[in-house]
Amino acid sequence: IVGAARDGQEIIVDADQGDVHLSPASDIVDAYSNRARLQARRLKRYARIKHLPAVTRDGVGVTLNMNAGLMMDVENLEDSGAENIGLFRTELKFMVAARMPRETEQLQVYKDVLDRVGERDVVFRTLDIGGDKVLPYLRTRSEENPAMGWRAMRMALDRPGLIRYQLRALLKAAAGRQLSIMFPLITTVEEFERSRDLLLFEQQRLRKFGHAVPKNLRIGTMLEVPALVWQLDRLLPQLDFLSIGTNDLLQFFFAADRGNPMIGQRYDLLSLPSLRLMSHVREVCKSHDVPVSICGELGSSNLEAMTLLGLGFRSFSVPSATVGSVKRMVRSTNLERLERAVTEVLAHPSGNLREQLHAIADAQGVKL
Ligand code: PEP
Ligand code: MG
Repeated sequence: IVGAARDGQEIIVDADQGDVHLSPASDIVDAYSNRARLQARRLKRYARIKHLPAVTRDGVGVTLNMNAGLMMDVENLEDSGAENIGLFRTELKFMVAARMPRETEQLQVYKDVLDRVGERDVVFRTLDIGGDKVLPYLRTRSEENPAMGWRAMRMALDRPGLIRYQLRALLKAAAGRQLSIMFPLITTVEEFERSRDLLLFEQQRLRKFGHAVPKNLRIGTMLEVPALVWQLDRLLPQLDFLSIGTNDLLQFFFAADRGNPMIGQRYDLLSLPSLRLMSHVREVCKSHDVPVSICGELGSSNLEAMTLLGLGFRSFSVPSATVGSVKRMVRSTNLERLERAVTEVLAHPSGNLREQLHAIADAQGVKL
């Protein structure tokens, strides 16, 4: 469509829906102007609560963090009203670069991020590349099922050269400060242990050569593969925190490609199997007393986030643009009542769960 556009022609780009309108008719322009006005009004409403804490009406504090990947996102931290950066996708820097960033360049990026956030925490996720996240300058074999292929820590553990540079850069950047690191697409406890050992080895090596290291190193992992759910009893005692990547976890759980619009609406993520899965993870983390957070998109929609609150989750990391609406929802809930109602609905499942959860929100005055 860019090729078809001429100078001076009007164009509407709808990034929410993935639509582009070239020379739109006046009623389309009106509809979009209206929507933009509504959106601006909504943003103003969120701005008023930006600096207020994410606390429920009955006084329970909820941690509301934001996701980031580039410095540009980090700049939004204060403005978003989020507390910390709960997921920093380090591969984005690699994806926008024309060649592999050197260790010194990586170090500078991580240092800039840490300097910018000051006392706040950033959870750096190590490289999640391979599969569909292609680096133009890194040759890999084409795969039939790239999302389930040689990606993330699978690639890193087989060819540790790249990840070792990254770990070194992260450790150096956080010298004398707190560093939180997590690993993507971990499928077995052994993969986690090997990843952690690589990190500890690099830290030891830096010490040996007289470099300063982080004063506090927190090590966690993403939960994105259903098989790992059934190893949590062995995994959790070794973790400082767990972060649930619902985008991948639920695509593998439902065997439904997260990027395929033909099946995008087919399986409701607010349905019995996924909520039972999430509830189980929450219970196991609680019994092992390991902090758990949700950094996939599931936590960024209000009804979904409300339901997860009702299941006992207390920490979310969402795109910066949705922090305001989730915070407003949190501040309108009475957690005790919400937990009771959600537990009740899940205990006696019948009919459409999404509708029943909507009815709970309506009855309890939760602002969605
Ligand atoms: C996820 O899978 O939910 C996640 C947060 O990681 P990404 O979206 O980068 O795959
Ligand atoms: Mg993922």
